[in-house]
Amino acid sequence: MPETALGDSVSWYLYVLVNPDGIAYTGIAKDVALRLRQHNSGTGARFTRGRGPWRILHVEGPMGQGDALRRERRVKRDRAFKAGLKATSAPFLTHPRELPRSGGAYLLLLVLARELPVRLPGRADAVLAASRYLYCGSARGPGGIAARVGRHMRPDKTVRWHIDQLSLAGQVIGAWVFPDGDECRLVAALAEMPVPLPGFGSSDCKICPSHLKVWPPGIALPAFLAPPGQLV
Ligand SMILES: [Zn+2]
Repeated sequence: MPETALGDSVSWYLYVLVNPDGIAYTGIAKDVALRLRQHNSGTGARFTRGRGPWRILHVEGPMGQGDALRRERRVKRDRAFKAGLKATSAPFLTHPRELPRSGGAYLLLLVLARELPVRLPGRADAVLAASRYLYCGSARGPGGIAARVGRHMRPDKTVRWHIDQLSLAGQVIGAWVFPDGDECRLVAALAEMPVPLPGFGSSDCKICPSHLKVWPPGIALPAFLAPPGQLV
């Protein structure tokens, strides 16, 4: 895990939650998933108790604890920033021509109609169940997000990354894109979604258990993602 000059471990996130009345709550945590469960079970903070269900509106990090505390104090006072978060959501893109050519992060929505045996080098073979999946990725190379997500959407490709096994066997429905965004921050923001297979898509990542999440029925998407409509 990376460290700051002060030896403060860079493993903290700032999070902003919103409830059905549009009230925002700002906090910091190392494990946003755990914190969200605590807020929704009434043990997170006095303010959030009985006012849920809370959904994630925004996540920043990872950063050191000192930076997280300073950022929390600023965001708690910044009404305009929180109003902006509530007013904007990332659009859901379904066609390669809609994708930006800038670099950044993306969240891919895939559907697997039947279970899929997958192979991860150095790990026991595993099976992904038939379900909806969310894959957090980044595009830093030439062609940016358009090139990378466009490749995910194409049916003709050889298996290069873990996610290729899933995108070839299943259906890529579309993607939310975040120019200048960070894939690990997206993973943290999908706190409510379970990890189907530890290590999937995160071989190079020392923070996330996996860059692939399951989107089970009955769990709402974070508030910053536009609904994918009638597609799933
Ligand atoms: Zn990660």
